[in-house]
Amino acid sequence: MFAFHESLARVDLAFTDRHGGESTGPWSALNLAAGNGDDPDTVERNLHLAVQALGGDPRRTHLARQVHGRDVHVVNGDAAPAVPPPEADAMVTAEPGAVLVVRVADCVPIVLADDRAGVVGVVHAGRLGVVADVATAAVDAMRSLGAGDVRGWIGPRACERCYEVPEDMRAAVAQEVPPTWSTTSWDTPALDLAAGVASQLEASGVLVHDLADDLHVCTIEGEDDYFSYRRQGERSGRLGALVHVRG
Ligand SMILES: [Zn+2]
Repeated sequence: MFAFHESLARVDLAFTDRHGGESTGPWSALNLAAGNGDDPDTVERNLHLAVQALGGDPRRTHLARQVHGRDVHVVNGDAAPAVPPPEADAMVTAEPGAVLVVRVADCVPIVLADDRAGVVGVVHAGRLGVVADVATAAVDAMRSLGAGDVRGWIGPRACERCYEVPEDMRAAVAQEVPPTWSTTSWDTPALDLAAGVASQLEASGVLVHDLADDLHVCTIEGEDDYFSYRRQGERSGRLGALVHVRG
């Protein structure tokens, strides 16, 4: 169910793996997004299972339609989640009980939390999101809600030794965000998107914990545990990053 799960004084956060859901085939088993051919009702049940495992209320689960942009959706009050979900690649809230979820397959999932202030956020950062610096936009939005000391967790994603890109793409991204420059294990141009977001978060004063420091969390290499767009293509399942301030 969870590749990583941590409970702080007021905040629960987690990154899912592919185990413990009801999907079959390429989406087996805990696929958290529809639109890739999986059955929407099954995806909905999988989301419920993941949110309940976090200790959250499935009816208060906020999703976003992710578009590789810089917009941050702020969840205010205890209103029901918007249908259809807002276009955003980050969500933040100070509302106890509101569960925030972003979905990824190879892109970088980030959870942000100021446990003391009770302000949290989630971010989906792919190549375009790193260039747009959506991570910093999310931190800024949290500070507007009263966050001070923000911690950041970077979850399972394509690693810097696998995420191959054309030479000109590596050059263009690394010109904007230098720590992203990387090389594959087979010696071709690559991007280290996690290093990019870590540098952006640290520049905003965020204390960063990258799961890759402790676990092997490459989505491309980890077929048994993770979904991967690069490995599975259009029918790839989606992993989730979840957070809430306990209600
Ligand atoms: Zn890898």
